Amino acid sequence: MTQAVLTLNAGSSSLKVSLFPTTGDVPLASGLADRIGPEGTLRLKTAAGEAIAATGDLTSHAGALAAVIAGFRAAWPDLDLLAVGHRVVHGGADRARPVTVDAALLDDLARLAPFAPLHQPHNLAGIRTAMAAFPGVPQVACFDTAFHRSHPWVNDTFALPRALYDEGVRRYGFHGLSYDYIAGELARIAPHLAEGRVVVAHLGNGASMCGMTGGRSIASTMGFSALDGLPMGTRSGQVDPGVLLYLMDQKGMTPAEISDLLYKRSGLLGLSGLSNDMRELEAAGTPEAAEAIDYFVFRCQREIGSMAAAMGGMDALIFCGGIGENSRLVRTRICDRLGWMGIEIDPGRNAANAQVISSDMASTTVMVVPTNEELVIARAARAAVGLAEREAA
Ligand code: ADP
Repeated sequence: MTQAVLTLNAGSSSLKVSLFPTTGDVPLASGLADRIGPEGTLRLKTAAGEAIAATGDLTSHAGALAAVIAGFRAAWPDLDLLAVGHRVVHGGADRARPVTVDAALLDDLARLAPFAPLHQPHNLAGIRTAMAAFPGVPQVACFDTAFHRSHPWVNDTFALPRALYDEGVRRYGFHGLSYDYIAGELARIAPHLAEGRVVVAHLGNGASMCGMTGGRSIASTMGFSALDGLPMGTRSGQVDPGVLLYLMDQKGMTPAEISDLLYKRSGLLGLSGLSNDMRELEAAGTPEAAEAIDYFVFRCQREIGSMAAAMGGMDALIFCGGIGENSRLVRTRICDRLGWMGIEIDPGRNAANAQVISSDMASTTVMVVPTNEELVIARAARAAVGLAEREAA
């Protein structure tokens, strides 16, 4: 019997899946159903990188999930699925940890959809699809907001009338599964640093930073939505709200048009006019691409200062996410002007993508720690069905 837990990350037109054994960090298999619809594609592969044949109806999420499971069952005919873990963007003001799903929870989470309209409905549709596909199998919701529920009030609110705070207009923070993973890894590989004040820079297509003290989130660059803070692949990051008033008042833009502008046409893509992809911008050599990188680097430097200020100092800076884990250029450029914070990069270590990339002389440790959001979901799914977790041991 191959006992396993499944992790699902359902987006508007995609379904990211991993199949994990009951122990250990390595999935048996993972895959992506993309462009779900008439042009849907599905790729599944084992941990060793071998393709798993999978075909089916890729015009809907339900069809894609059925195709995924058929592929896994063909590869492991004795597959026994114990639980399904889901990435859910929003858990609301009170949920600080994963929760096993029931009908009341689904209703509650659906009420949060207006706070995350581009993600929450798709995440919940993924849960409903999996509930229908695997009746009786526990479904576990893991929230991107949960890790940040430890924020002090000053980092949880805006200076708006209190009634808005009370109805949920708060700084939630996102990328919590990634930060949860990094906090756990740091406790394992550098426990003395994990006890201290750490800035984690999750720099991928989506980008944010988290200031954590003793492994708990104190501050996040993302706020009410996953738009705030750093510029991202296609998202603006922080903009003066006066700009939005101008766009509405003077240019007559609708909420849908502004949403499209801020989520899909801004950030690295908007500034470069070329691409949302850091690799392409590094290779492009155009003045606009260079300026897009300049802005990204500058805002990262500013926000590292802001996170450190929120914590009263900084003992370590951790890079993760596609850019943080791979771009030697961006890491060097960000750290170049942070000598005043005790940061100094060792060029050889940085070029080698070493775990510690700061020099031995530096008072602030700089590390590269690959993140693993799927594993955080898998661990929560395991825990929900009573499988002991390494961290708990
Ligand atoms: P997502 O937020 O979608 O999970 P990722 O964490 O995969 O995104 O990050 C994607 C980003 O990482 C892209 O901008 C990509 O160009 C960048 N990236 C990946 N590898 C490299 C590299 N070797 N050098 C520079 N940027 C890289």
